[in-house]
Amino acid sequence: MEKKEMLYEGKAKQLFATEVTDQLIVHFKDDATAFNGQKKGQIKEKGKINNKITNFFFKLLEAEGIKTHLIRELNQTDSLVKKVKIIPLEVVMRNLAAGSLAKRIGFTEGKLLRQPVIEFYYKDDQLGDPLINISHIELLKLAEHQELEKLIALSHKINYILSKFLKARKIDLVDFKLEFGKTASGEIILADEITPDTCRFWDSQTKEKLDKDRFRRDLGNVEAAYQEMYQRITGQKWQ
Ligand code: 5GP
Repeated sequence: MEKKEMLYEGKAKQLFATEVTDQLIVHFKDDATAFNGQKKGQIKEKGKINNKITNFFFKLLEAEGIKTHLIRELNQTDSLVKKVKIIPLEVVMRNLAAGSLAKRIGFTEGKLLRQPVIEFYYKDDQLGDPLINISHIELLKLAEHQELEKLIALSHKINYILSKFLKARKIDLVDFKLEFGKTASGEIILADEITPDTCRFWDSQTKEKLDKDRFRRDLGNVEAAYQEMYQRITGQKWQ
């Protein structure tokens, strides 16, 4: 499958057209940004690791009945995916308090939440991806009521599957962000990525952060954390 014109370039990925209209190639970059692009850098081999971790998780979820945009991995950094219209919502699922939730409601980082918390952020760079509620989603017509219900149910199921999988590998899934898309036939499927860029992963015993917070908060050993997560998830040594 050949890359044609670039359709989109985001902070961590590029999207290319292919000779097949409803199939695209996603390329994972080593570039890393934080705080709405104010902090910029590179994480060595992040593109390869994130491509492989996303594909591993998407296959795991497919096996549990969750439809995703993945068709197949093409090479170390690139995958073939189904073309979808991305719903402009970031769905965040949380199991432990951290990041913006800890700040917003005054919980200490690491506090176990009585039940998973779901949040929606409006994907709009100019507005800075604000937190919005279901009423706002309906007002903005970002998703129909039934679509939203499906999206919420899918997000809870994904959280359950991933939390269980990671717990067995001694990783706490603190929180993560999902994006969904709509196919030409109107089906809602999981898109984007599930990686240390978009999740908080803590070692269950030491509580060491093994995700992008190492980059965001200048904690050092960023590459090593990404490699460690690759190993814990796939059971294989990184190269
Ligand atoms: P928080 O709202 O605490 O900053 O983020 C919650 C979770 O969602 C974290 O796991 C974070 O990595 C993920 N997340 C939320 N928004 C974004 C985003 O715009 N980009 C990325 N890469 N992750 C995000």
